[in-house]
Amino acid sequence: MAQALPNLKDLDPPGLRERLAASGVAPYRAEQILAWLYARGVEDLHAMTDLALDLRERLAGQWQTRALETVALQRSIDGTRKAVLRAADGAVIESVLIPDEDRTTLCISTQVGCPLACSFCATGALGFTRNLTTAEIVDQVCRMREVLAPEERITNVVFMGMGEPLLNLPALLRAIRILMHPRAFDLAGRRITVSTAGLVPQIRPLLEAAPVNLAVSLHATTDELRDELVPLNRHFPLAALLGELRSLEAISPRRPVFFEYTLLAGVNDAPEDAERLLALLRGLPSKLNVIPVNPYPGSVYRTPGPETTDRFLGILARGGMTVTLRRSRGADIDAACGQLAASGEQDQGGTPRADKDGGG
Ligand code: SAH
Repeated sequence: MAQALPNLKDLDPPGLRERLAASGVAPYRAEQILAWLYARGVEDLHAMTDLALDLRERLAGQWQTRALETVALQRSIDGTRKAVLRAADGAVIESVLIPDEDRTTLCISTQVGCPLACSFCATGALGFTRNLTTAEIVDQVCRMREVLAPEERITNVVFMGMGEPLLNLPALLRAIRILMHPRAFDLAGRRITVSTAGLVPQIRPLLEAAPVNLAVSLHATTDELRDELVPLNRHFPLAALLGELRSLEAISPRRPVFFEYTLLAGVNDAPEDAERLLALLRGLPSKLNVIPVNPYPGSVYRTPGPETTDRFLGILARGGMTVTLRRSRGADIDAACGQLAASGEQDQGGTPRADKDGGG
């Protein structure tokens, strides 16, 4: 079998410029190629009509430009759309498009499966296959843009799909540079959020390289419980995580840390948890998103009732925390947080799932 060609979308803007320069092509050609590939969504190198014909032909002989195919698209009653996307090696991942009043957020994946095995997360239960390439990360945006309604535009991108983004930092950073480049997707850093389970050594390198929002999945206020829910905590316990966050210059009241706290009935939803949370985060510029858990099939966790949730939120709000209850979207199509578990067979075959009540 012929060796597959390298993918042009694996190159970030500086990388593309360099590669072109190395073969004697003027660097400004990179801007034209970025505009075709990303702003216009044209993947056929032969169709890039402002490039000389011989350059088009040369590039087409050397590069491929597509990394993912859409194998299934589901639409929730709330307008959320989930795509199952397949890579060249057959790996499947999921991306979720979430329209809201004033924004349309795309939630994308960075790994096939995830090695972190958080106890309440469907992706974690899958285990880990591999990191996604830069081309596979940005192609999620390309594929999902094709399912937008005419008046829709992707305004925000969150790295909150399958996988731990900071375990795939070089590919993530190249993808972010493509998202932010004015000739490509032209997204401001404040419209991009990277969510981590707390891979402490990679947080500073991320924020030094890219002016994006940081989200941290906290979920527990003691090491004992967090060790169980987020096993990564055994390597980077709460004191190390919060200490590192407090030391970051990139974090300020203008650019707070977004903490995520998945509420699990009877596990982390007591008033004492809320009190400890206030104490832990005191003085750290932060906002808190509380997400009632979306159970997945076989999960032992349950969603707390509205009184417990209100009590929890009330304590935090009275303590001065900026806290929002994240209403889960797309639970009817298993597109909600922690429900992303693409496995080609299941999703194409439409195997009935037991968690249709999963959402908020
Ligand atoms: N690995 C990264 C990003 C992916 S998870 C991280 O951990 O942050 C995105 C968010 O969804 C995380 O906060 C995660 O803890 C949360 N999540 C996972 N499973 C969930 C579930 N079943 N219900 C609600 N939120 C869940």
